[in-house]
Amino acid sequence: MAEEKWERTPGGAVLMDGNRLRDELVVDLKGRIEALGNPHVCLATVLVGDDKPSQIYVRNKRKKAEEAGMVSRHVELPGDISQPDLEAAVRDLADDPSVHGILVQLPLPDGLDAERILDLLPPEKDVDGLTERSMGRLLRGRDGHVPCTPLGVMRLMERYGVETAGKKAVVIGRSTLVGLPQVLLLGRKGCDATPTLAHSRSGDLAAICREADIIVAAVGVAGLVTAEFVKPGAAVLDVGISRTADGIQGDVDFDAVQAVAGAITPMPGGTGPMTIGCLMENTFNAARMQGAFA
Ligand code: NAD
Repeated sequence: MAEEKWERTPGGAVLMDGNRLRDELVVDLKGRIEALGNPHVCLATVLVGDDKPSQIYVRNKRKKAEEAGMVSRHVELPGDISQPDLEAAVRDLADDPSVHGILVQLPLPDGLDAERILDLLPPEKDVDGLTERSMGRLLRGRDGHVPCTPLGVMRLMERYGVETAGKKAVVIGRSTLVGLPQVLLLGRKGCDATPTLAHSRSGDLAAICREADIIVAAVGVAGLVTAEFVKPGAAVLDVGISRTADGIQGDVDFDAVQAVAGAITPMPGGTGPMTIGCLMENTFNAARMQGAFA
């Protein structure tokens, strides 16, 4: 697609629109599933307790799965469920050959051990890419599922023409959910960036980030990344989510940074929707890995 068609911010940065790219991805997957003769492709979601944001996330994931032509199976369990009962419910899905992807919405309510739940997921069904075996596959370059949020960041950069080869990238935040896999994806062959992992004890974050052609902020501190963090023309991708009295805010001070950056994600509407888009992509691949189609 010609670059001129991309929407730009008032300051001239390319707006990396995650809603639009997610919708393209869903339409593409729907077309591929139809072309294959509509094989059964099933995403199972597990929601424990009544955390409002988790309910919304899961509802959106189920909706997009159905839009993509997949079957959405939903298991909803009370917040006071015991660890053995939750493990039994997840094991049922793991053993069921008609289920291709399993998403256990995190965080789990207090008292439940998420690590032990994740350990029950076969890597082929781990469409969130969060288990130690999926992480090991990513590290070893083997076929598996990549965590959806950092994968969504990669898809946004591909789609909006952000050059990565030979470029310096800074990822702020070192979680296993986002920051660490993001660094691996940026540094691996094919992407070929040179990533730096910054975190709460890195020191002068602004100086570290100013060196970067690409900044991925995955912290959860509203407005942490200001204009002085950003080299003119850099791509800035905002993963952080802070719920404030003024609504959802990202790690990036969007108004100031868009005037300096070459490309930027909105928040909301950037990396969040792409997390869901990539979950659909992983579920499609999971079904193929498990022989639902060739
Ligand atoms: P986390 O709390 O596990 O990790 C946060 C990281 O930020 C830590 O590694 C910490 O070292 C670093 N950090 C904390 N304070 C810092 C500071 N002042 N300066 C620099 N680094 C600092 O969180 P997470 O699970 O990685 O999520 C990060 C953020 O991304 C959260 O706001 C979360 O809600 C959001 N998130 C968004 C999506 C999405 O789809 N957009 C998906 C997952 C998580």
